[in-house]
Amino acid sequence: MTDITCKLLVIGAGPGGYVCAIRAGQLGIDTVIVESTKLGGTCLNIGCIPSKAMIHVAEEFEKAAHAAAGKTPFGLTAAEPKLDMKQAVAWKDGIVQRLNNGVAALLRKAKVKIVHGQARFRDGKTVTVETETGPKLIKAETIVIATGSVPVELPFLPFGGNVISSTGALALTELPKRLVVVGGGYIGLELGTAFAKLGAKVTVVEAQDKILPLYDAELTAPVAKSLSALGIEVLTGAKALGPTAKGGGLRIETADGKERELQADKILVTVGRAPATSRLGLDELVLDMDGRFIRIGERCETSMRGIYAIGDVTGEPMLAHRAMTQGEMVAEIVAGEPRIWDKACIPAICFTDPEIVSAGLSPTEAKAAGFAVKLGQFPFQANGRAMTRHGEAGFVRVVARADNHLVLGIQAVGQGVSELSAAFGLAIEMGARLEDIAGTIHAHPTLGEAFQESALKALGHALHI
Ligand code: FAD
Ligand code: NAD
Repeated sequence: MTDITCKLLVIGAGPGGYVCAIRAGQLGIDTVIVESTKLGGTCLNIGCIPSKAMIHVAEEFEKAAHAAAGKTPFGLTAAEPKLDMKQAVAWKDGIVQRLNNGVAALLRKAKVKIVHGQARFRDGKTVTVETETGPKLIKAETIVIATGSVPVELPFLPFGGNVISSTGALALTELPKRLVVVGGGYIGLELGTAFAKLGAKVTVVEAQDKILPLYDAELTAPVAKSLSALGIEVLTGAKALGPTAKGGGLRIETADGKERELQADKILVTVGRAPATSRLGLDELVLDMDGRFIRIGERCETSMRGIYAIGDVTGEPMLAHRAMTQGEMVAEIVAGEPRIWDKACIPAICFTDPEIVSAGLSPTEAKAAGFAVKLGQFPFQANGRAMTRHGEAGFVRVVARADNHLVLGIQAVGQGVSELSAAFGLAIEMGARLEDIAGTIHAHPTLGEAFQESALKALGHALHI
């Protein structure tokens, strides 16, 4: 067995792991990264990037279909659009490939050694890796577990045949006529919306009594309205029971306790993600766990000295930018920097139509934390840029402390609001007060003006409403 000795070993090259390795390399740390599939992890290969590519394809198709149907209010007409799904998937795969190559180049530039294979702990300092050329033994002073997550499988509806996960959905080269989505969370609604725009008849089965349970009802209402306009049937409070006896459909129990059969060409199961630890040999270690996830402290340290964990394997929120930020921080800690997790917020975006952004505390969370709050909400109906983009649904809402006007949270729902997330995050991270946002010149005409107006509204003197 070949032996490799290094200062830092990173297991998993998703956004958490590869960022950690790049930063460690930049800091001159002798670093090895092990990846069992493809560089870039879930996010780059089967998650964030390919899903946003397919969402874009669906948006363009829908626009063309509206023009063909003469549904644009500005008189645009066009021929009936046709989509070559194979070409769309190939275009998406091309983007993924370019980014894969980019990650490999960045790792090489940082002088990180890449080992392809499945890593398994032998003890707290040693890992064996099954590679194509045989097993390798890697000894490291410090190990970072960044193995990410995998889709949750329902025992009565296992993946296979016409039951698919998000990975399968993103690889479909033929549009399913009837798609049943189990789980009305992030993935179910982002992909369900995209398939509906492409022409599939979509039904969403959600166990809770509302879609996107993480967000408040005011934020999800415009999304629910748009799902209905797209012809998506949303069944909340409904339970999937299992496949139908014939025809590949799904048996469900509806909110009123009745059994119903849903016809389906594909059943997309998106009921959350579980930590990817099953083949990692965690039984060789004595790590404290947080349910199924690895428990970490403020420096992403686990309960064993010299072992860190970052990203989805450590639990919610399972977001790429959280994993990357943790990865960068851990690399600096390994280099001896005095770093600690001190972020004021982790913005979250749902790429539905319209999009939802949330940074910091919602009004309910702020009140539950004991704050007396001031709220300001500004609708896109009164925003010139939203009107010129023909996307007036939604609003920006700011939540601030009533006493000193410190901004605690900012949320928005609307077309294109994902790009406002940077301004929202910056405001909270910099400790902005309502007056800072109200006093910043926001260029006209932009959606961002709604952010300024929401602060003015909270201060009691909005100008355009
Ligand atoms: P991962 O990206 O899962 O990477 C872990 C890597 O470790 C994998 O490459 C895996 O092969 C490797 N690995 C696992 N075990 C071993 C082992 N034993 N040995 C060697 N290698 C191993 N997040 C967002 O922020 N924005 C989005 O828009 C977004 N969209 C998403 C859409 C979809 C369809 C999905 C599924 C997820 C989406 N996410 C999104 C979530 C995001 O992908 C994850 O939060 C992110 O990828 C987590 O990064 P990570 O580094 O922790 O793990
Ligand atoms: P999710 O947690 O967002 O949603 C899962 C949904 O399934 C929930 O609404 C839940 O109530 C429902 N559910 C659970 N069991 C069910 C059952 N048996 N029947 C019907 N409904 C059931 O999970 P996801 O959509 O699978 O996404 C996984 C993770 O990936 C997310 O938590 C998120 O962190 C990440 N992600 C993020 C983005 C983004 O940032 N835009 C996009 C996609 C995924």
